Amino acid sequence: MSASALRTQVSRWGCSRARDWTSYQSLHTTSRATSKEHVKVLVLGGGSGGIAMSARMKRKVGAENVAVVEPSEMHYYQPIWTLVGAGAKSVESSGRPTASIVPSGVRWIRSKVTEVNPDTNSVRTDCGKEITYEYLIVALGLQLHYERIKGLPEAFHHPKIGSNYSLKTVQKTWKALQEFREGNAIFSFPNSPVKCAGAPQKIMYLSDAYLRKTGKRSNATIIYNTSLPVLFGIKKYADALWEIVRARDLNVNLRHNLIEVRPEKQEAVFENLDKPGVTKVFEYEMLHVTPPMGPPDVLKGSPLADEAGWLNLNKETLQHPVYPNVFGIGDCTNLPTAKTAAAVAAQSGVLDRTISRIMKKNHPDKKYDGYTSCPLVTSYNTVILAEFDYNGQPLETFPLDQSKERRIMYHMKADLMPHLYWHGLLRGLWGGPGPYRTLMHLGMK
Ligand SMILES: Cc1cc2nc3c(=O)[nH]c(=O)nc-3n(C[C@H](O)[C@H](O)[C@H](O)COP(=O)(O)OP(=O)(O)OC[C@H]3O[C@@H](n4cnc5c(N)ncnc54)[C@H](O)[C@@H]3O)c2cc1C
Repeated sequence: MSASALRTQVSRWGCSRARDWTSYQSLHTTSRATSKEHVKVLVLGGGSGGIAMSARMKRKVGAENVAVVEPSEMHYYQPIWTLVGAGAKSVESSGRPTASIVPSGVRWIRSKVTEVNPDTNSVRTDCGKEITYEYLIVALGLQLHYERIKGLPEAFHHPKIGSNYSLKTVQKTWKALQEFREGNAIFSFPNSPVKCAGAPQKIMYLSDAYLRKTGKRSNATIIYNTSLPVLFGIKKYADALWEIVRARDLNVNLRHNLIEVRPEKQEAVFENLDKPGVTKVFEYEMLHVTPPMGPPDVLKGSPLADEAGWLNLNKETLQHPVYPNVFGIGDCTNLPTAKTAAAVAAQSGVLDRTISRIMKKNHPDKKYDGYTSCPLVTSYNTVILAEFDYNGQPLETFPLDQSKERRIMYHMKADLMPHLYWHGLLRGLWGGPGPYRTLMHLGMK
Protein backbone atom coordinates (compact mmCIF):
# COMPACT_ATOMS: atom_id res chain seq x y z
CA MET A 1 0.00 0.00 0.00
CA SER A 2 1.37 3.45 -0.85
CA ALA A 3 2.29 5.90 1.90
CA SER A 4 -0.49 8.29 0.90
CA ALA A 5 -3.08 5.51 0.88
CA LEU A 6 -1.88 4.45 4.28
CA ARG A 7 -2.07 8.01 5.53
CA THR A 8 -5.67 8.28 4.41
CA GLN A 9 -6.53 4.97 6.01
CA VAL A 10 -4.97 5.76 9.36
CA SER A 11 -6.09 9.37 9.59
CA ARG A 12 -9.70 8.23 9.28
CA TRP A 13 -9.37 7.63 12.97
CA GLY A 14 -7.37 10.73 13.68
CA CYS A 15 -8.17 13.87 15.53
CA SER A 16 -6.99 15.94 12.64
CA ARG A 17 -9.74 14.70 10.39
CA ALA A 18 -12.13 15.44 13.22
CA ARG A 19 -10.65 18.93 13.28
CA ASP A 20 -11.13 19.43 9.55
CA TRP A 21 -14.61 18.06 9.76
CA THR A 22 -15.41 20.09 12.87
CA SER A 23 -14.14 23.35 11.43
CA TYR A 24 -16.49 22.80 8.49
CA GLN A 25 -19.26 21.75 10.83
CA SER A 26 -18.68 24.66 13.20
CA LEU A 27 -20.25 26.85 10.54
CA HIS A 28 -23.50 25.11 11.44
CA THR A 29 -23.12 24.03 15.04
CA THR A 30 -21.49 25.37 18.17
CA SER A 31 -18.61 23.75 20.04
CA ARG A 32 -16.28 20.76 19.59
CA ALA A 33 -14.99 20.83 23.15
CA THR A 34 -17.29 17.99 24.18
CA SER A 35 -15.56 15.44 21.91
CA LYS A 36 -14.72 12.40 24.07
CA GLU A 37 -13.13 9.05 23.51
CA HIS A 38 -12.04 6.10 25.63
CA VAL A 39 -9.22 3.66 24.98
CA LYS A 40 -7.69 0.87 26.99
CA VAL A 41 -4.05 1.75 26.29
CA LEU A 42 -3.22 5.33 25.36
CA VAL A 43 0.27 6.20 24.12
CA LEU A 44 1.39 9.84 24.16
CA GLY A 45 3.95 10.57 21.43
CA GLY A 46 4.61 8.62 18.25
CA GLY A 47 8.40 8.81 18.24
CA SER A 48 10.78 5.90 18.80
CA GLY A 49 9.36 4.85 22.16
CA GLY A 50 5.71 5.59 21.38
CA ILE A 51 5.59 3.55 18.17
CA ALA A 52 7.58 0.67 19.67
CA MET A 53 5.15 0.48 22.60
CA SER A 54 2.08 0.85 20.34
CA ALA A 55 3.26 -2.22 18.42
CA ARG A 56 3.88 -4.18 21.61
CA MET A 57 0.53 -3.15 23.12
CA LYS A 58 -1.29 -4.09 19.91
CA ARG A 59 0.01 -7.64 20.34
CA LYS A 60 -1.05 -7.64 23.97
CA VAL A 61 -4.57 -6.16 23.92
CA GLY A 62 -5.51 -5.92 20.21
CA ALA A 63 -5.12 -2.98 17.85
CA GLU A 64 -8.63 -1.68 18.50
CA ASN A 65 -7.70 -1.11 22.16
CA VAL A 66 -4.64 1.05 21.48
CA ALA A 67 -4.36 4.69 20.39
CA VAL A 68 -1.37 6.94 19.89
CA VAL A 69 -1.44 10.74 20.02
CA GLU A 70 1.16 12.27 17.69
CA PRO A 71 0.92 15.58 15.78
CA SER A 72 3.68 15.06 13.18
CA GLU A 73 2.99 13.84 9.66
CA MET A 74 6.53 12.49 9.40
CA HIS A 75 8.57 10.26 11.67
CA TYR A 76 12.38 10.64 11.62
CA TYR A 77 15.19 8.29 12.51
CA GLN A 78 17.17 10.98 14.31
CA PRO A 79 20.44 9.06 14.89
CA ILE A 80 21.23 9.22 11.17
CA TRP A 81 21.24 13.05 11.27
CA THR A 82 24.85 12.85 12.49
CA LEU A 83 25.74 11.44 9.07
CA VAL A 84 23.36 13.80 7.23
CA GLY A 85 25.18 16.79 8.77
CA ALA A 86 28.45 15.38 7.42
CA GLY A 87 27.07 14.69 3.94
CA ALA A 88 27.26 10.89 4.27
CA LYS A 89 23.47 10.28 4.15
CA SER A 90 20.53 12.20 2.70
CA VAL A 91 17.96 13.79 4.96
CA GLU A 92 15.24 12.08 2.92
CA SER A 93 16.58 8.69 3.99
CA SER A 94 15.83 9.59 7.62
CA GLY A 95 12.07 10.10 7.34
CA ARG A 96 8.92 8.08 6.70
CA PRO A 97 5.26 9.13 6.90
CA THR A 98 3.88 8.59 10.38
CA ALA A 99 0.93 6.82 8.76
CA SER A 100 3.27 4.14 7.48
CA ILE A 101 4.77 3.33 10.89
CA VAL A 102 1.72 3.48 13.17
CA PRO A 103 0.90 -0.24 13.59
CA SER A 104 -2.07 -1.14 11.39
CA GLY A 105 -5.39 -0.93 13.18
CA VAL A 106 -3.99 1.22 16.00
CA ARG A 107 -5.77 4.57 16.16
CA TRP A 108 -3.54 7.52 15.32
CA ILE A 109 -4.91 10.68 16.92
CA ARG A 110 -3.17 13.34 14.89
CA SER A 111 -2.99 15.97 17.58
CA LYS A 112 -0.94 17.43 20.44
CA VAL A 113 -1.58 16.57 24.06
CA THR A 114 -2.09 19.79 26.00
CA GLU A 115 -3.08 18.47 29.42
CA VAL A 116 -2.57 15.25 31.37
CA ASN A 117 -4.92 14.51 34.29
CA PRO A 118 -3.88 11.24 35.92
CA ASP A 119 -6.41 11.71 38.76
CA THR A 120 -9.25 11.36 36.24
CA ASN A 121 -7.32 9.03 33.87
CA SER A 122 -7.71 11.51 31.06
CA VAL A 123 -5.77 13.75 28.69
CA ARG A 124 -6.83 16.68 26.56
CA THR A 125 -5.63 17.51 23.06
CA ASP A 126 -5.25 20.76 21.16
CA CYS A 127 -8.26 19.89 19.03
CA GLY A 128 -10.57 19.82 22.01
CA LYS A 129 -10.74 16.09 22.51
CA GLU A 130 -10.79 14.48 25.93
CA ILE A 131 -9.43 10.94 25.94
CA THR A 132 -9.81 8.65 28.91
CA TYR A 133 -7.65 5.58 29.38
CA GLU A 134 -7.07 2.52 31.53
CA TYR A 135 -3.32 2.51 30.99
CA LEU A 136 -1.17 5.42 29.90
CA ILE A 137 2.29 5.24 28.28
CA VAL A 138 4.10 8.57 28.13
CA ALA A 139 6.67 8.82 25.32
CA LEU A 140 6.78 12.54 24.58
CA GLY A 141 10.52 12.94 23.95
CA LEU A 142 12.25 16.18 24.93
CA GLN A 143 12.12 19.78 23.81
CA LEU A 144 14.92 21.67 22.06
CA HIS A 145 15.57 25.20 23.36
CA TYR A 146 17.59 27.07 20.73
CA GLU A 147 15.85 30.23 21.95
CA ARG A 148 17.79 30.02 25.22
CA ILE A 149 20.93 31.03 23.31
CA LYS A 150 20.89 34.77 22.52
CA GLY A 151 20.72 35.35 18.77
CA LEU A 152 19.10 31.98 18.04
CA PRO A 153 17.15 30.68 16.26
CA GLU A 154 17.35 33.78 13.97
CA ALA A 155 21.09 33.25 13.39
CA PHE A 156 20.24 30.09 11.44
CA HIS A 157 19.17 32.39 8.59
CA HIS A 158 22.87 33.16 8.17
CA PRO A 159 25.42 30.81 6.61
CA LYS A 160 28.24 29.05 8.49
CA ILE A 161 26.03 27.79 11.30
CA GLY A 162 24.17 24.51 11.58
CA SER A 163 22.80 21.99 14.04
CA ASN A 164 22.33 18.26 13.59
CA TYR A 165 19.65 18.25 16.29
CA SER A 166 16.85 19.62 14.14
CA LEU A 167 15.43 18.67 10.78
CA LYS A 168 15.37 22.38 9.92
CA THR A 169 19.08 22.92 10.46
CA VAL A 170 20.84 19.60 9.86
CA GLN A 171 21.54 20.30 6.20
CA LYS A 172 22.98 23.69 7.17
CA THR A 173 25.76 21.83 8.99
CA TRP A 174 26.79 20.09 5.76
CA LYS A 175 26.62 23.35 3.81
CA ALA A 176 28.80 25.15 6.38
CA LEU A 177 31.32 22.31 6.24
CA GLN A 178 31.48 22.33 2.46
CA GLU A 179 31.90 26.12 2.38
CA PHE A 180 34.63 26.13 5.05
CA ARG A 181 37.68 28.12 3.89
CA GLU A 182 39.85 29.18 6.82
CA GLY A 183 39.45 29.79 10.56
CA ASN A 184 37.79 28.21 13.58
CA ALA A 185 35.34 25.31 13.34
CA ILE A 186 33.51 25.33 16.68
CA PHE A 187 31.30 22.62 18.19
CA SER A 188 29.23 23.22 21.34
CA PHE A 189 27.71 21.07 24.10
CA PRO A 190 25.01 22.77 26.26
CA ASN A 191 24.55 23.05 30.00
CA SER A 192 21.51 20.74 30.18
CA PRO A 193 20.61 17.08 29.75
CA VAL A 194 20.82 16.13 26.05
CA LYS A 195 19.78 13.24 23.84
CA CYS A 196 22.72 11.25 22.50
CA ALA A 197 25.48 12.96 24.44
CA GLY A 198 28.02 11.75 21.88
CA ALA A 199 26.43 13.52 18.90
CA PRO A 200 27.87 16.99 19.66
CA GLN A 201 31.41 15.62 19.25
CA LYS A 202 30.73 13.04 16.51
CA ILE A 203 30.20 15.88 14.05
CA MET A 204 33.55 17.34 15.12
CA TYR A 205 35.41 14.13 14.19
CA LEU A 206 33.54 13.94 10.89
CA SER A 207 34.32 17.59 10.12
CA ASP A 208 37.99 16.97 10.89
CA ALA A 209 37.96 14.00 8.51
CA TYR A 210 36.18 15.99 5.79
CA LEU A 211 38.62 18.90 6.03
CA ARG A 212 41.56 16.49 5.80
CA LYS A 213 40.01 14.78 2.78
CA THR A 214 39.53 18.10 1.00
CA GLY A 215 42.98 19.44 1.87
CA LYS A 216 41.69 22.25 4.09
CA ARG A 217 42.63 20.88 7.50
CA SER A 218 45.76 23.03 7.81
CA ASN A 219 43.55 26.13 7.45
CA ALA A 220 41.33 25.05 10.32
CA THR A 221 41.44 25.26 14.09
CA ILE A 222 38.93 22.78 15.45
CA ILE A 223 37.46 23.59 18.86
CA TYR A 224 35.07 21.57 21.04
CA ASN A 225 33.58 23.76 23.78
CA THR A 226 31.62 21.65 26.24
CA SER A 227 29.72 22.54 29.39
CA LEU A 228 30.71 19.20 30.88
CA PRO A 229 33.77 18.69 33.09
CA VAL A 230 34.66 15.59 31.02
CA LEU A 231 34.92 14.69 27.33
CA PHE A 232 32.57 11.72 27.77
CA GLY A 233 30.82 10.39 30.87
CA ILE A 234 32.27 6.86 30.82
CA LYS A 235 35.99 6.71 31.54
CA LYS A 236 36.85 3.78 29.28
CA TYR A 237 35.51 5.61 26.21
CA ALA A 238 36.64 9.07 27.39
CA ASP A 239 40.24 7.80 27.55
CA ALA A 240 40.01 6.53 23.96
CA LEU A 241 38.48 9.84 22.79
CA TRP A 242 41.18 11.92 24.50
CA GLU A 243 43.79 9.96 22.52
CA ILE A 244 41.99 10.76 19.27
CA VAL A 245 41.63 14.41 20.23
CA ARG A 246 45.37 14.68 20.85
CA ALA A 247 46.39 12.73 17.75
CA ARG A 248 44.17 14.85 15.47
CA ASP A 249 45.05 18.21 17.01
CA LEU A 250 41.51 19.00 18.21
CA ASN A 251 41.12 21.61 20.95
CA VAL A 252 38.82 20.77 23.85
CA ASN A 253 37.67 23.40 26.34
CA LEU A 254 35.72 21.95 29.30
CA ARG A 255 33.05 23.93 31.21
CA HIS A 256 32.46 26.30 28.28
CA ASN A 257 28.78 26.99 27.63
CA LEU A 258 27.46 28.74 24.49
CA ILE A 259 25.28 31.71 25.49
CA GLU A 260 25.21 33.96 22.41
CA VAL A 261 25.69 33.86 18.64
CA ARG A 262 26.47 37.04 16.64
CA PRO A 263 26.10 35.85 13.05
CA GLU A 264 27.02 39.16 11.36
CA LYS A 265 30.41 39.17 13.05
CA GLN A 266 30.68 35.36 13.02
CA GLU A 267 31.21 35.35 16.77
CA ALA A 268 30.12 32.85 19.42
CA VAL A 269 30.12 33.83 23.09
CA PHE A 270 30.81 31.19 25.74
CA GLU A 271 30.54 31.53 29.51
CA ASN A 272 33.03 29.84 31.78
CA LEU A 273 30.90 27.73 34.11
CA ASP A 274 33.67 27.62 36.71
CA LYS A 275 34.10 31.39 36.75
CA PRO A 276 30.63 33.00 36.92
CA GLY A 277 30.42 36.17 34.83
CA VAL A 278 33.54 35.40 32.79
CA THR A 279 32.82 35.11 29.07
CA LYS A 280 35.00 34.51 26.02
CA VAL A 281 34.29 35.45 22.42
CA PHE A 282 35.35 33.01 19.68
CA GLU A 283 35.33 33.92 16.00
CA TYR A 284 34.03 31.15 13.80
CA GLU A 285 34.19 30.09 10.17
CA MET A 286 31.81 27.24 11.04
CA LEU A 287 29.65 26.77 14.15
CA HIS A 288 27.75 23.61 15.12
CA VAL A 289 25.22 24.24 17.88
CA THR A 290 23.83 21.61 20.22
CA PRO A 291 20.89 23.36 21.87
CA PRO A 292 19.89 23.26 25.55
CA MET A 293 17.15 20.67 26.03
CA GLY A 294 14.39 20.14 28.58
CA PRO A 295 11.18 18.23 29.29
CA PRO A 296 8.05 18.78 27.16
CA ASP A 297 5.85 21.70 28.31
CA VAL A 298 2.85 19.45 28.83
CA LEU A 299 4.73 17.44 31.47
CA LYS A 300 6.33 20.34 33.31
CA GLY A 301 4.30 21.06 36.45
CA SER A 302 1.93 18.13 35.82
CA PRO A 303 1.30 15.60 38.60
CA LEU A 304 3.38 13.12 36.59
CA ALA A 305 6.60 15.15 36.64
CA ASP A 306 9.48 15.34 39.06
CA GLU A 307 10.79 18.72 40.25
CA ALA A 308 12.80 19.28 37.10
CA GLY A 309 9.76 18.54 34.90
CA TRP A 310 10.78 15.08 33.64
CA LEU A 311 8.38 12.14 33.85
CA ASN A 312 8.87 10.53 37.24
CA LEU A 313 9.42 6.78 37.01
CA ASN A 314 10.63 3.84 39.04
CA LYS A 315 14.00 3.38 37.36
CA GLU A 316 13.75 -0.42 37.27
CA THR A 317 10.10 -1.07 36.37
CA LEU A 318 9.38 2.15 34.39
CA GLN A 319 6.10 2.52 36.29
CA HIS A 320 5.02 5.84 37.80
CA PRO A 321 5.53 5.79 41.60
CA VAL A 322 2.20 7.50 42.38
CA TYR A 323 -0.09 6.50 39.50
CA PRO A 324 0.27 2.72 38.99
CA ASN A 325 -1.51 2.74 35.61
CA VAL A 326 0.97 5.26 34.16
CA PHE A 327 4.26 4.21 32.51
CA GLY A 328 6.93 5.92 30.49
CA ILE A 329 9.77 5.43 28.08
CA GLY A 330 12.53 7.40 26.42
CA ASP A 331 13.82 10.94 26.48
CA CYS A 332 10.94 12.46 28.49
CA THR A 333 11.70 10.34 31.56
CA ASN A 334 13.88 11.02 34.60
CA LEU A 335 15.67 7.66 34.25
CA PRO A 336 19.29 8.36 35.22
CA THR A 337 20.86 7.05 32.03
CA ALA A 338 21.92 8.56 28.70
CA LYS A 339 18.92 9.43 26.50
CA THR A 340 19.20 7.37 23.31
CA ALA A 341 17.13 5.22 20.94
CA ALA A 342 19.25 2.28 22.12
CA ALA A 343 18.02 2.95 25.66
CA VAL A 344 14.44 3.13 24.31
CA ALA A 345 14.89 -0.34 22.79
CA ALA A 346 16.05 -1.88 26.07
CA GLN A 347 13.33 -0.05 28.00
CA SER A 348 10.61 -1.26 25.60
CA GLY A 349 11.27 -4.91 26.47
CA VAL A 350 11.15 -4.27 30.21
CA LEU A 351 8.09 -2.03 29.97
CA ASP A 352 6.25 -4.63 27.92
CA ARG A 353 6.80 -7.13 30.70
CA THR A 354 5.94 -4.65 33.49
CA ILE A 355 2.62 -3.75 31.86
CA SER A 356 1.74 -7.42 31.30
CA ARG A 357 2.27 -8.12 34.96
CA ILE A 358 0.30 -5.06 36.11
CA MET A 359 -2.60 -5.97 33.81
CA LYS A 360 -2.69 -9.40 35.45
CA LYS A 361 -2.52 -7.77 38.90
CA ASN A 362 0.98 -9.11 39.56
CA HIS A 363 4.10 -7.26 40.68
CA PRO A 364 6.61 -6.28 37.99
CA ASP A 365 9.46 -8.77 37.90
CA LYS A 366 11.83 -7.54 35.20
CA LYS A 367 14.35 -4.77 35.92
CA TYR A 368 15.82 -2.21 33.55
CA ASP A 369 19.56 -1.94 34.20
CA GLY A 370 19.99 1.45 32.50
CA TYR A 371 21.40 -0.06 29.28
CA THR A 372 22.19 2.62 26.72
CA SER A 373 24.54 2.90 23.79
CA CYS A 374 26.27 5.56 21.75
CA PRO A 375 28.06 4.75 18.50
CA LEU A 376 30.80 7.40 18.65
CA VAL A 377 31.48 8.11 14.99
CA THR A 378 35.14 9.11 14.78
CA SER A 379 35.52 9.36 10.99
CA TYR A 380 33.74 8.40 7.75
CA ASN A 381 34.58 4.76 8.37
CA THR A 382 35.21 4.24 12.07
CA VAL A 383 33.13 4.06 15.24
CA ILE A 384 33.80 3.43 18.92
CA LEU A 385 30.70 1.61 20.17
CA ALA A 386 30.04 2.78 23.73
CA GLU A 387 27.54 0.65 25.67
CA PHE A 388 26.95 1.06 29.39
CA ASP A 389 24.46 0.85 32.28
CA TYR A 390 23.13 2.87 35.23
CA ASN A 391 26.42 2.43 37.10
CA GLY A 392 28.44 3.84 34.24
CA GLN A 393 29.94 0.39 33.70
CA PRO A 394 30.60 -0.74 30.12
CA LEU A 395 28.02 -3.36 29.07
CA GLU A 396 29.46 -4.42 25.73
CA THR A 397 27.69 -6.75 23.32
CA PHE A 398 30.72 -8.03 21.45
CA PRO A 399 33.60 -10.04 22.90
CA LEU A 400 36.18 -7.47 21.81
CA ASP A 401 37.43 -4.13 23.08
CA GLN A 402 34.73 -1.71 21.91
CA SER A 403 36.73 1.36 22.94
CA LYS A 404 38.86 0.83 19.80
CA GLU A 405 37.86 2.55 16.56
CA ARG A 406 36.48 -0.08 14.21
CA ARG A 407 35.26 -0.10 10.62
CA ILE A 408 32.72 -2.87 11.29
CA MET A 409 31.05 -0.70 13.94
CA TYR A 410 30.73 2.12 11.41
CA HIS A 411 28.81 -0.21 9.10
CA MET A 412 26.61 -1.20 11.98
CA LYS A 413 25.85 2.46 12.69
CA ALA A 414 25.37 3.56 9.08
CA ASP A 415 23.78 0.50 7.48
CA LEU A 416 22.53 -2.05 10.01
CA MET A 417 21.04 0.13 12.76
CA PRO A 418 18.56 1.97 10.51
CA HIS A 419 17.11 -1.42 9.48
CA LEU A 420 16.98 -2.55 13.08
CA TYR A 421 15.13 0.67 13.89
CA TRP A 422 12.49 0.61 11.14
CA HIS A 423 11.90 -3.15 11.06
CA GLY A 424 12.77 -4.20 14.62
CA LEU A 425 12.29 -1.46 17.23
CA LEU A 426 9.28 0.25 15.65
CA ARG A 427 7.54 -3.09 15.19
CA GLY A 428 8.07 -3.95 18.83
CA LEU A 429 10.44 -6.77 17.91
CA TRP A 430 13.76 -5.34 19.14
CA GLY A 431 14.30 -5.01 22.88
CA GLY A 432 18.03 -4.32 22.77
CA PRO A 433 21.05 -6.60 22.44
CA GLY A 434 20.82 -8.24 25.90
CA PRO A 435 20.22 -11.83 24.68
CA TYR A 436 22.97 -11.51 22.02
CA ARG A 437 25.40 -10.18 24.63
CA THR A 438 24.78 -13.23 26.77
CA LEU A 439 25.25 -15.48 23.76
CA MET A 440 28.45 -13.81 22.59
CA HIS A 441 29.95 -13.92 26.06
CA LEU A 442 28.98 -17.59 26.42
CA GLY A 443 26.49 -16.82 29.16
CA MET A 444 29.03 -14.91 31.27
CA LYS A 445 27.38 -11.43 30.87
C1 LIG B 1 21.55 14.25 16.07
C2 LIG B 1 21.08 13.08 16.88
C3 LIG B 1 21.86 11.94 16.95
C4 LIG B 1 21.44 10.85 17.68
N1 LIG B 1 22.22 9.72 17.69
C5 LIG B 1 21.79 8.62 18.32
C6 LIG B 1 22.54 7.41 18.24
O1 LIG B 1 23.56 7.34 17.58
N2 LIG B 1 22.08 6.33 18.90
C7 LIG B 1 20.90 6.37 19.62
O2 LIG B 1 20.53 5.34 20.17
N3 LIG B 1 20.18 7.50 19.74
C8 LIG B 1 20.59 8.64 19.11
N4 LIG B 1 19.84 9.78 19.17
C9 LIG B 1 18.74 9.90 20.16
C10 LIG B 1 17.43 9.25 19.76
O3 LIG B 1 17.00 9.71 18.51
C11 LIG B 1 16.39 9.57 20.84
O4 LIG B 1 16.91 9.28 22.10
C12 LIG B 1 15.12 8.78 20.63
O5 LIG B 1 14.52 9.12 19.41
C13 LIG B 1 14.14 9.04 21.79
O6 LIG B 1 12.89 8.48 21.53
P1 LIG B 1 11.58 9.10 22.23
O7 LIG B 1 10.44 8.28 21.79
O8 LIG B 1 11.82 9.27 23.68
O9 LIG B 1 11.49 10.58 21.63
P2 LIG B 1 11.23 10.99 20.12
O10 LIG B 1 11.61 9.90 19.19
O11 LIG B 1 11.86 12.32 19.93
O12 LIG B 1 9.64 11.10 20.04
C14 LIG B 1 8.87 12.00 20.81
C15 LIG B 1 7.56 12.20 20.05
O13 LIG B 1 6.63 12.90 20.87
C16 LIG B 1 5.91 13.79 20.05
N5 LIG B 1 5.35 14.85 20.90
C17 LIG B 1 6.03 15.87 21.49
N6 LIG B 1 5.16 16.64 22.17
C18 LIG B 1 3.93 16.11 22.01
C19 LIG B 1 2.63 16.44 22.48
N7 LIG B 1 2.42 17.51 23.26
N8 LIG B 1 1.58 15.65 22.12
C20 LIG B 1 1.78 14.55 21.34
N9 LIG B 1 2.98 14.19 20.87
C21 LIG B 1 4.05 14.96 21.19
C22 LIG B 1 6.92 14.29 19.04
O14 LIG B 1 6.31 14.82 17.89
C23 LIG B 1 7.74 13.03 18.78
O15 LIG B 1 7.26 12.32 17.68
C24 LIG B 1 20.21 10.90 18.42
C25 LIG B 1 19.41 12.03 18.32
C26 LIG B 1 19.83 13.11 17.56
C27 LIG B 1 18.94 14.34 17.45
